[in-house]
Amino acid sequence: MNTIIIDGKRTAERVRDKLRTAIEQLKQAGHIPGLAVVLVGENPASQVYVNSKVKACEELGIYSQKWSLPTETSQKELLELIDRLNHDDRIHGILVQSPPPPHIDEAAVVLRIDPRKDVDGFHPVNVAKLVMEDPSGFVPCTPMGCMELLKEYGIETQGKHAVIIGRSMIVGKPMAHLLMGKHANATVTVAHSRTTDLAGLCRTADILVAAVGRPGLVTAQYVKPGAVVLDVGINRVEDSTRPRGYRIVGDVDYAEVAPICRAITPVPGGVGPMTIAMLMANTVKACRAACGVG
Ligand code: NDP
Repeated sequence: MNTIIIDGKRTAERVRDKLRTAIEQLKQAGHIPGLAVVLVGENPASQVYVNSKVKACEELGIYSQKWSLPTETSQKELLELIDRLNHDDRIHGILVQSPPPPHIDEAAVVLRIDPRKDVDGFHPVNVAKLVMEDPSGFVPCTPMGCMELLKEYGIETQGKHAVIIGRSMIVGKPMAHLLMGKHANATVTVAHSRTTDLAGLCRTADILVAAVGRPGLVTAQYVKPGAVVLDVGINRVEDSTRPRGYRIVGDVDYAEVAPICRAITPVPGGVGPMTIAMLMANTVKACRAACGVG
């Protein structure tokens, strides 16, 4: 089969190109989109994510603030910072990098962010807007990026059976709502760790989304020939041949699955680059809404 390799880097660049135009228009009207990224603690992976987000802002001319707070930061101090950012007119989007240290109540932090600045789309107001298909809300960036990839590659979703493995609030659940919504019109099944005969279920999918966090879980026996496979997983596996001692792989056994499917996202270079591009898109959207620019 002539498999289409879905290029997330190229698609993300196209998204950024569109954003450059929108940002220029905002600047001409006297507005600069602003994003505050808050990191509590010293998780190395989180530091990499936060730095990439700040860098992406710089490349697009989005104003950014990076708050690196020590691990021992109290819940009260973090909430006070969020209050300040909620009232800072230069800031249109606020993101608190997950996971915070264990003594921080992440749900309380999400609740404190002004829903109009919740560019991660985690606040209950935005979750409700997604479920209600109200376009004024913010949708979590990774599933939004997956939808953008399907659109970019002209992949039909209407009437198709989509199976999503994973039911997290960050990926699986919002992805299900986007695919079942009136713009996509897919029929959706969500699988999780208690699903029986996962492979058999997945084989019924026209579109298979893997958001599990288990390297190589999805093998050829999970995939109907000709299906479209979106691999959201980002997993580190040991690899002594690499300078860092590990490599990044997805939830899909790419070597086995790629030859039998119609289209597939590689890891890295598939869904990953889209997440930050969509964060930038949400920040621009927040700025437009705050400034009353249509
Ligand atoms: P979570 O751990 O929050 O959720 C994982 C889901 O997978 C759960 O619903 C869990 O089921 C399910 N699951 C776990 N094991 C199995 C199994 N053996 N069979 C079936 N289902 C299983 O992860 P996230 O949604 O946050 O992330 C998923 C993956 O996506 C990770 O690799 C993460 O790194 C990656 N990711 C990538 C992003 C990107 O930018 N590309 C962004 C966000 C995440 P249950 O609910 O029953 O426990």
